[in-house]
Amino acid sequence: MPSTPAKKQSIINPVTIPKGQHPVTFSDISDNTLSVLRRLNAKGYEAYLVGGCIRDRLMGKTPKDFDVATNATPEQIKECFRNCRLIGRRFRLAHIVFGRDIIEVATFRGHHEEVNANEEENKTQVKGRRGNQVDDVLAKQDQQGQLLRDNVFGTIEEDAERRDFTFNAMYFSAKDQSIIDFANGMASINEKKIELIGDPATRFREDPVRMIRAIRFSAKLGMTIPPEMGDQIKELSHLLANIPPARLFEEVLKLLVTGIGLRTFHLLHEYGLFAPLFPQLAPLLVDNSCREMKLVEQVLKNTDDRLNNEQRVTPAFLYAAFLWYPVEESTQFIMGESGVAQNDAFNIAVGEVLQKQTQRIMIPKRFSIPIREMWQLQMRLPRRFGRRAYQTLSHPRFRAAYDFLLIRGQIEGGDLLELGEWWTEFQEVTPEQRKDMISDLRKQPGVPRKKKIIKKRKAT
Ligand code: ATP
Ligand code: MG
Repeated sequence: MPSTPAKKQSIINPVTIPKGQHPVTFSDISDNTLSVLRRLNAKGYEAYLVGGCIRDRLMGKTPKDFDVATNATPEQIKECFRNCRLIGRRFRLAHIVFGRDIIEVATFRGHHEEVNANEEENKTQVKGRRGNQVDDVLAKQDQQGQLLRDNVFGTIEEDAERRDFTFNAMYFSAKDQSIIDFANGMASINEKKIELIGDPATRFREDPVRMIRAIRFSAKLGMTIPPEMGDQIKELSHLLANIPPARLFEEVLKLLVTGIGLRTFHLLHEYGLFAPLFPQLAPLLVDNSCREMKLVEQVLKNTDDRLNNEQRVTPAFLYAAFLWYPVEESTQFIMGESGVAQNDAFNIAVGEVLQKQTQRIMIPKRFSIPIREMWQLQMRLPRRFGRRAYQTLSHPRFRAAYDFLLIRGQIEGGDLLELGEWWTEFQEVTPEQRKDMISDLRKQPGVPRKKKIIKKRKAT
């Protein structure tokens, strides 16, 4: 049933905090961002810094990026900057490009119930991307009340009201360095309590991604989710399944690959948001001591540690690890059902698990190929006779596969632990010693060559 739009008026009460009475100064803002704000102001438009950068600075954190909001339409913004690119269909935006630094500039959003009255005027605002053809749908909601399109432009008050949380509706002006706090975001920051603007159920239905944003801000900023909001999230968590997989790919990276993945995962799990994101893994997380839970936690901990030590991480590793036990389970199932050999069942399982996952979260090819390779290598790592160990070692994905084997060994122990130790040693020793290690494998008495080689290691 489509829900009614967010309640109006009562929640918006702009309070101006003058320069000097808040901690944000020009020195907190990048030069490129300041130049964008000043150019828009000079051309006669209103322009503000808004959202995460102001919120993070007020909470003593270094802003990750700078978001600008203005009353200029995307086309008007484009006229102000040669280095401007218009992007997005669901939510049209301007990107001002300074080499690798991109400043996102959004036009103030308005209310959808006024679409009909303003339609003619608004239609002209969405011309451009497809030549003179006018996209006649500016705002669109689906059966659950989810906003499929949000391109109705409005005033700054309307824009504030359409933002998600009260602490994200604080606007910094480069003209006088004041902050306009539209929804009492300062109180939310001081109380460290996450508050939605408007009616929570309506706002979560309009855009279910707001539920995972609440989790992200809670994990990142140490803010509490009030119990009523928590209940709403648990009730509506299934709506995440309606979000386009491409959008969720980006959102999940922000959740799990920014240095607080483990904390964020626990919250997602607690509020029932992990299952719609990873429907094949979630049912296996039966309790805190099961191997699936331990693997997820260990991989997230390693990812967080690496990020916090400024080491490289790849989402492929995370996805490969998250989906490993579903692949293992599915392999067993296929073998039992159809009696095909383990290798064939494994290959079928790999395809099926990835395909099901991408129905929820898109996994671009640049990640799905390494995921498959990491999995295939798990099958190859136990097979070390002849040239096999050398071939595996020289595989471009060996390092990731070996790291993953070590984690599996840490969790499952036994043969896997020994196999991991064998590979650690194999990498460290001289070429002569490598030969010896391989011929030692052959010396295992009474173990048939082609059968489970992991078992042979155990006999060493
Ligand atoms: P960060 O950039 O640190 O992840 P942020 O709050 O800046 O956090 P962005 O995705 O950059 O997040 O969005 C910028 C601003 O746009 C937000 O602060 C918020 O005001 C608004 N916004 C973003 N996503 C939504 C949404 N789903 N619904 C309503 N408003 C949103
Ligand atoms: Mg931001």
